[in-house]
Amino acid sequence: MILIGCHLSVTDGYAAMGKTMSRFGGNTFAWFTRNPRGGKTKPVIPEDIEALRAHLKKEGFGPLVAHGSYTMNLCSANADTRANGLDMLTQDLERMELLPDNLYNFHPGFHTGQGTETGIRQIAEALNRVLRQDMRTTILLETMAGKGSEVGGTFEELREIIDRVDCRDKIGVCFDTCHTWDAGYDLVNHLDGVLQHFDDVVGLSRLKAVHFNDSKNERGSHKDRHEKLGQGYLGVDAMKRIALHPAFAGLPFILETPNDDEGYIAEIHTVLDWMA
Ligand code: FE
Ligand code: FE
Ligand code: ZN
Repeated sequence: MILIGCHLSVTDGYAAMGKTMSRFGGNTFAWFTRNPRGGKTKPVIPEDIEALRAHLKKEGFGPLVAHGSYTMNLCSANADTRANGLDMLTQDLERMELLPDNLYNFHPGFHTGQGTETGIRQIAEALNRVLRQDMRTTILLETMAGKGSEVGGTFEELREIIDRVDCRDKIGVCFDTCHTWDAGYDLVNHLDGVLQHFDDVVGLSRLKAVHFNDSKNERGSHKDRHEKLGQGYLGVDAMKRIALHPAFAGLPFILETPNDDEGYIAEIHTVLDWMA
């Protein structure tokens, strides 16, 4: 089963995203649970959610991958920012329960000078305050580029967060190919080795989704600038090898490449061709 889709906007509601993705030719998608720069969410219309659920079932969609806000920082040195992040996470996860059995991905955060160890501890503490055993959502930590004080730029840091979480079966990882490359992992020349390392440190069973992006920058740049498939430093051959790698088989692949609708439709079909 090939699961491919891209980021969509929830502006026109939930059911509209399902219809758009079917028109694009995909069978999964991601969306920002609120404006990526933060702010309030619109109230949910139950009929809209029901219509999306019916569409997903009818069209055989794979798990969806919601994305938490960039402004949500669970490990800021600023206590108000941390509290605000916890509120966002709590509300987002409540809302996710309306769409059970999907994935919610977020950036672990920036420790803003507190140090990685403190950051890791605060992220895990926040997760321990909101995760419940009866939740139907799996929460994914994203592999990050490691820019500035960003936490999650190494597999070891993700592992350390997971180790401190009580409801560990609710936690997984979203593997962002641009970020991982920018963090320094050589997905072009040593894909097997990188995934073996991921398995040793985190465990491949934690891998639940892929953000499928090329990178505008060289390996280890710690920049986090996404590029269209095959047009960046990863290149078409490496992107293809990633798409076909058994470690990623059956996972939802989400494109976060700089594209308009037509560009996304083209990339979705490219990936479907590679994987066919
Ligand atoms: Fe992300
Ligand atoms: Fe990403
Ligand atoms: Zn990114």
